[in-house]
Amino acid sequence: MFWLTEHFLSIQGEGRYAGVPSYFLRTGGCNLNCPGFGVSYEVDGQRRFGCDTWFAVDRAYSNQWEGVESATKLLRDLDREFNTIGYKPHIVITGGEPLIYASDPIFYNLILGLLERRVVITFETNATIEIDFENLPAYKEVTFALSVKLSNSGEVKSKRVKPLALKKIANYSKEYFLKFTLDKDMIDSGDALKEIQDIRAFLPEAEVFCMPVGESRNKIWHNDRAVFDFCIKNNFHYSDRLHIRIFDMTQGV
Ligand code: SF4
Repeated sequence: MFWLTEHFLSIQGEGRYAGVPSYFLRTGGCNLNCPGFGVSYEVDGQRRFGCDTWFAVDRAYSNQWEGVESATKLLRDLDREFNTIGYKPHIVITGGEPLIYASDPIFYNLILGLLERRVVITFETNATIEIDFENLPAYKEVTFALSVKLSNSGEVKSKRVKPLALKKIANYSKEYFLKFTLDKDMIDSGDALKEIQDIRAFLPEAEVFCMPVGESRNKIWHNDRAVFDFCIKNNFHYSDRLHIRIFDMTQGV
């Protein structure tokens, strides 16, 4: 079984496919917490810190998640959605961290079923999980948006940078790219470039997309100009965060 927190039709807001109509499946649970992103929320009167998808990370919210016990049923629901939509959108499987379920048979059958339907699938992943591509070959047909976390996530390097997991994705998957969330301070200090270069040493062919940190329009505006200039200087791709720019902090869009 795996957990879904929400699913909805929207537009991909980040990375190589920004602007493409996409159906999002957001799984529940993550192997990181990323308190450095500084989004605060409350559980039982206690303040906690996490990322902008804390509601899909913190298991205190799991009573709002839906347990998926049958890939066939979910695929039937998606077929109905696609019929209503009138086309098959790209599918973005995000989280939380979706690949904590990589070895789950129901999750894997979902991927097989989506591939049979000839939809384009992207995993939005923190790229810390080693995938067994030999025994789970459907994952070779998926695009991996590798959102490797930097020091501004508040996680220690040994937890957020997993060279073997990165190399396996580079060796086996049909498409991958790196996506980093940067703030002005780490650009100004030089840490952003150094940390990106460290990660790129494992994936020298990867295209790099850089996005401004911020879970709201206000926060993005503090960082976007610095990221924009940083991309020009270093020949990286600038990626905005369209859904936040347009919908601000609204979930499920
Ligand atoms: S890895 Fe991603 S989903 Fe998980 S806590 Fe960090 S930013 Fe949030």
